[in-house]
Amino acid sequence: MVNSKLFRNFALEKERNGMYDVKKVREDFPILTREVYGRPLVYLDNGATTQKPRQVVEAMVDEYYNVNANVHRGVHFLSQQATDLHEASRETVRGFLNAQSTSEILFTRGTTESINLLAFSFGEAMVKEGDEVVVSTMEHHSNLVPWQMMCERKGAHLRVIPMTDEGVLRMDALEELLTERTRIVCVTQMSNVLGTVNPVKDIIRMAHEREIPVLVDGAQSVPHMRVDVQDLDCDFFAFSGHKVYGPTGVGVLYGKEEWLDRLPPYQGGGEMIQTVSFEKTTYNGLPYKFEAGTPDYVATHGLAKALDYVRGLGMEQIEAHEQELMRYALERLEGIEGMRIFGLPLTSCSSPLAPNRGAVISFLVGNIHHLDMGTLLDRLGIAVRTGHHCAEPLMRRLGIEGTVRASFALYNTKEEVDVLVEGIERVRRMF
Ligand code: PMP
Repeated sequence: MVNSKLFRNFALEKERNGMYDVKKVREDFPILTREVYGRPLVYLDNGATTQKPRQVVEAMVDEYYNVNANVHRGVHFLSQQATDLHEASRETVRGFLNAQSTSEILFTRGTTESINLLAFSFGEAMVKEGDEVVVSTMEHHSNLVPWQMMCERKGAHLRVIPMTDEGVLRMDALEELLTERTRIVCVTQMSNVLGTVNPVKDIIRMAHEREIPVLVDGAQSVPHMRVDVQDLDCDFFAFSGHKVYGPTGVGVLYGKEEWLDRLPPYQGGGEMIQTVSFEKTTYNGLPYKFEAGTPDYVATHGLAKALDYVRGLGMEQIEAHEQELMRYALERLEGIEGMRIFGLPLTSCSSPLAPNRGAVISFLVGNIHHLDMGTLLDRLGIAVRTGHHCAEPLMRRLGIEGTVRASFALYNTKEEVDVLVEGIERVRRMF
């Protein structure tokens, strides 16, 4: 009863929002027509990377064929045109995140590099022996290991926000973890394993009451929901292009200007300098101080096209579509014998308008090893991910070695959920 009411609310919401036509949208993604092992591909590994629409790939091919030249350094026509595209992409990212200024948008190779940059620079400037860095139980290794490395260098300590068995962060425990020794809080907006959407706005408010800055890992949230860094009031925000329908090799670190101004560069080289002599180097202004070397200017252009693409469909519409898929998938999966789903069950999901669970579902069935399940589903054309999902401490907390993970994107359909469910049933019967 509860579920059908949820679906009805969703249908109403969909009508109001003017949903996109998924069948038509799929035509933008040529790879989705592929067959694997003679079966139509059902791609449910979007948490690892998303497929690319023509609009992104064609813009990049066009740039290589018709514009290519190194950016920022040339007086000639092509170099200026390439620079214009690159800087226009920075403006697109600024608008997408609603940052105040393009000085706050640093291009990196991805979330991992963004966090390594911050952990190094922030550590150098702000962290001393005995200080503390707060992370959560559900962090991806990318938002854990760089901080651990920095803590080791500086003699600082990691503190970890615990979570409930359903994968919800314990805000009461966070309250106690924030002390005068805390230098920064680093937390994911959405778990790549559990799908939990964390209350980052509340976390930021709590940290700011104690003048502690917050980094939000947006690798999993940016593809699924509207992000407004001014509304969140986060101090830093990281995401990867390839998880939001853009190319590999490009990502973003957003930082408030007042913070970035205070932090030292991460890497030295071309572009990040103002003047260089053998005695002394002075650094360029923002954002270039943090962008040593030739950037992947074709990928930044591709990223901008990807962000234009998702904005064209509407982040609210994408979120509504994926929430409906996730609810449908949870309902069907929960009906499978021996099914164990990690993260919030369907009955605990809050209103569709304020979701606290994104479209990522991790599960195990009976005693079937996650690798066996993944391998057999693959033979049915279903691409899922198996293993620890770069979150070993979270696996330890859950008392397991790994899970099977189905992660959804704007182009997935209920029919694909049905194929997944039938596939799992088939594997289950084999064991
Ligand atoms: N954080 C989270 C939550 C992620 O899911 C991932 C990718 N799985 C990363 C960080 C790292 O992203 P990338 O490999 O693109 O740097």
